[in-house]
Order: sequence, then structure tokens, then C-alpha cells
Amino acid sequence: MLKTKLALLIGCLSFGVNAASFETVTLGSKGGIQDGNLTAFMLKSEQDDNYVMLDAGSVVNGLIVSEQKGAFEDVQVPADSKYTKVGYLLKERVKGYLISHAHLDHVAGMIISSPDDSHKPIYGLSATNEALMNNYFNWSAWPNFGNEGLGFKLSKYTYTDLPEFQWQEVKGTSMQVMAMPLAHSGGQSTAFMLKDKVGDVFVYFGDTGPDAVEKSDALSKVWSTLAPFVKQDKLKGIVIEVSFTNQTPDKALFGHLTPNWLLKELTALETLAGKGSLNDLDVVISHIKYSLKKGEDPQTVIKRQLDEANKLGVKFHFPAQGDALSF
Ligand SMILES: [Zn+2]
Ligand SMILES: [Zn+2]
Repeated sequence: MLKTKLALLIGCLSFGVNAASFETVTLGSKGGIQDGNLTAFMLKSEQDDNYVMLDAGSVVNGLIVSEQKGAFEDVQVPADSKYTKVGYLLKERVKGYLISHAHLDHVAGMIISSPDDSHKPIYGLSATNEALMNNYFNWSAWPNFGNEGLGFKLSKYTYTDLPEFQWQEVKGTSMQVMAMPLAHSGGQSTAFMLKDKVGDVFVYFGDTGPDAVEKSDALSKVWSTLAPFVKQDKLKGIVIEVSFTNQTPDKALFGHLTPNWLLKELTALETLAGKGSLNDLDVVISHIKYSLKKGEDPQTVIKRQLDEANKLGVKFHFPAQGDALSF
């Protein structure tokens, strides 16, 4: 009895100290080539019930797998709803898409589910929105479900251009978003910082190469923007890619990171925010490619290479499709 009460008390205390700010569900964990499990995360603030989708490589399949894994056990579908839980989540609880760039592995799920989706904004840098309307929602690759672009506009999705480095409302949620450009093999990608009502932030990175390889200062600008939040202990977690192992030469990175490059980039953030400032920071690794080869899984290698060289004390996570995480 006492034991139970004590455990309960400790549980409550630790909950009080570590109260979560954000929750993610991984709808797709891979950077390729596994259709059905491509980059997509649902994110919500603990202060409200509605989600935003961070990239949308796999959507409905991600929801199905996540529901089967119990990621949405707390979600109640209203009795008068005509939708399954998957349908209810997609149509009622996901209030918009934040698209980092228009590569297919980041948007395929959104395109395929669009006929049955609800009206939503698509938030992105103007180059991303333009690529979506020119290459996909153009009546050639797919009907035009957007409110701009070629031919008749079905206007299910409202393209919403985000200005760089400015806070914007994420409609239907209690969060705000700031878009920060990234360099991705000559193209543009985006990091999105989400801020909740009390000022805690979470950052999602789309595909990105290291500044030194991209000959860019994009990540450097992101780190300068994040450093004040780190100093104030407001940065609750990040999702960032590591597509390749350290064995991959720089010329074969095509706008992606390795364990060494990620640690180098994170060290740049630590340098700005102060020694030890990233200790215990939750860092979710995304975009590892599914491997067709026999032998060691690239994820095992990447995890080992990150752990071996982790002098920053960050906590790396490798969620599988359907895994929910709190930050
Ligand atoms: Zn990608
Ligand atoms: Zn890409």
C-alpha cells in the first residue's frame, strides 16, 4: 500500500518537474525508399488537442500503423462522427501541413490522401508552395486541389506562404510557427520552429546539408535564432535528419547529414548557447533510408556513430512508424 502511494507520489512529482510541452507521432520515419513509411510527423502542443503535420510523405498509412500501435488511445472520436479514428484524426484534428520542401518523399502522402482530406492550409516558403502547384496539383500529375496554380482550382488546400524568420499563427492550433530556410543540394528546404502559448519551442528540420558542404550559412542562421531559446531552457526538442553513415564522402551527400556532420552542426549551436547547454536535449533522428542490402542496418550504424562521438550529452531518439513521443 505504502509502496503504491509512494510510487504514485514520485510519479506525480516527476511529472510536475518534467511536464511535457509537445507531443509527436511518427507517421513515417524513413527518408526513402519504403513507400508507406516516408517522412511525416504529427505535432501538437500539450495545451490543445489539434495537430499540425510536419511534412507528409506518408499520411493515411502512417495513421493506420500509429492507431494499431496505440498512439491515439487517448483520442475519443465523438459519438456523432461518421468517421473512423483514422478519418477523424485526418479530417478534424490535423489542422494544416508544414511542408519543408516539395521532394516526393515529403509530400506523397498528402497528395494521395487529398481527395478525402478536409480543407486545410499548406504552410511553406513560397518556393515550396510554387513547386507543389507546378509539379503535383496541376491536373497532369494530380487534380489541382490547391487554390492557386494551373486550371480549375478545387481549393481544398490554401497555399500559405510563410515569411522567413517571422512568427505566424498556425490556424486551428494554439501554436505559432517560424520558417527558417535550409540548403539542400542546391535547392531550398525549411526548418520550422513551433512555439506554444507559454513560449516553449520545438524545431523540425526538413532535409539539409551541412553549411560547409552546401557552401551556405543557412544552418548557422538557424543556430543563431535558436541559441536564445536554448539559453532560456525553452527548446524542448528537435527532429533532424541523418540520412547517411560517416562512410559517405561529402561529395555523395546530396544535401544531407551524417552523424559527424550533425554533431559538428550541433556543436555550433552549443558554442552560441554555452558549454553544456545541449545536455539532455531530445534530438529525434529522421530520414534514414530503408536498406535493401544484407548486413548491418544503416540505423544501427548511425546510432552507434552518433553515440560514440556524442560529447554534447544530447539524447538521440530513433522512433519507428507509429511511435509517440513527449517533449
Ligand atoms: Zn527527403
Ligand atoms: Zn529532399
